[in-house]
Amino acid sequence: MIIFQRLSMRFSFLTITFLLLSIEGFSQRDCASADYAARTAGSVHLSATPSLYSRDTIANEIITIPVVIHVVYHTATENISDAQIKSQLKVLNEDFRRMNADAANTPQAFQNNAADCRIMFCLAQVDPHGRPNPGIIRKFTNKTYFDVDDAVKFSAAGGDDAWDSRKYLNIWICKMSGSVVGYASVPGSQADKDGVVIQYDAFGTTGVLRPDYNKGRTTTHELGHWMGLKHIWGDNLCGDDGIQDTPTQSNYNTGCPSFPHLSACSPNNNGDMYMNYMDYTSDVCMNMFTVGQKIKMRGLFAINGVKNSFMSSFACDSTLASAAPLPADSQAVATPSVAAPELKVFPNPVQSQFGFTVKGDYTLTGKQVVVMNETGMVLMKQTFSSNEDKVSISRLPAGVYIVSVGQGKDKKVIKLIKY
Ligand SMILES: [Zn+2]
Repeated sequence: MIIFQRLSMRFSFLTITFLLLSIEGFSQRDCASADYAARTAGSVHLSATPSLYSRDTIANEIITIPVVIHVVYHTATENISDAQIKSQLKVLNEDFRRMNADAANTPQAFQNNAADCRIMFCLAQVDPHGRPNPGIIRKFTNKTYFDVDDAVKFSAAGGDDAWDSRKYLNIWICKMSGSVVGYASVPGSQADKDGVVIQYDAFGTTGVLRPDYNKGRTTTHELGHWMGLKHIWGDNLCGDDGIQDTPTQSNYNTGCPSFPHLSACSPNNNGDMYMNYMDYTSDVCMNMFTVGQKIKMRGLFAINGVKNSFMSSFACDSTLASAAPLPADSQAVATPSVAAPELKVFPNPVQSQFGFTVKGDYTLTGKQVVVMNETGMVLMKQTFSSNEDKVSISRLPAGVYIVSVGQGKDKKVIKLIKY
């Protein structure tokens, strides 16, 4: 129903502005998030249960969101490059930090409303099983296009299954039917559908791109929805987006209006905030979120917010990749901690007892030395009282052992061979 109402609203809007649009040749931004939200309202679960690891956000701290990109392609063109994906990450990290070069284009009248949202995005380095992963999944599909029906989010439907959406932001890239360039799930939506879907040629700033959608703002816009923002016109004529510092405007804008752009319900002479990321203007003409939008988005990450779980997601830390065994063709990004050169086991290989050679001012005094087998099972522990202490391993069978010295981030790990 809402789809038809919106279509008819759009039809009348287009009728009125047909001449202008046809002269200027703007393509119509088509974000399906509002329709999608209306259709999926029944499946929204708006409760979050803080876990033992929950913590509140700290005022203005930078919130970093691990991202996994699912490139679901049918043709080689749709299999967009790593460079195109990384160009999108760069845009997000500029737009959500107000470090975008075109921030200067925000009209003076709105400059004080513009916000550095202090939200950043990183490609995940660890998959949900703890294995190293570059945060980009490429998957061929037999489907020639996807509808706004979430098929792309499920391997069984020709798409690719979501990673744990409490820890990862899932972004699916695919060819979508019609003119739709993207849609987002509503905060608190069904876990296996949580994330955004973006048209493959409306993503990033380099590579395969369509005109007007070549500055990465489609994803900025959709992530605004993902973090609870509505369209700036409230999806109704002179509607309300629930944000105090975005002025009421009668409808969406397209192309690149010039300031001031007044509409029937403008509260003052500043008119529409058409350069807001949540309007429908061309990528090149969008350049701001407001302070009110920032507060709304960050609120989701607070202690009782539906996205609070991201405060304990460290999926961009490659040193956490630990699960074994790795598939043969995967490339390890995790670097195991190794002994610093100031500490060596001596002798190595060893038959009955070993000690350490120490360089510089490193001391073993008071440190615990642990001998483990290859699977990490602890076999012996000994606390050293001087650098000259020795560990006897004469009762252990020949083999490969792991020796760790010290604890925490100062811990050193050395491989030891007994013969
Ligand atoms: Zn939208």
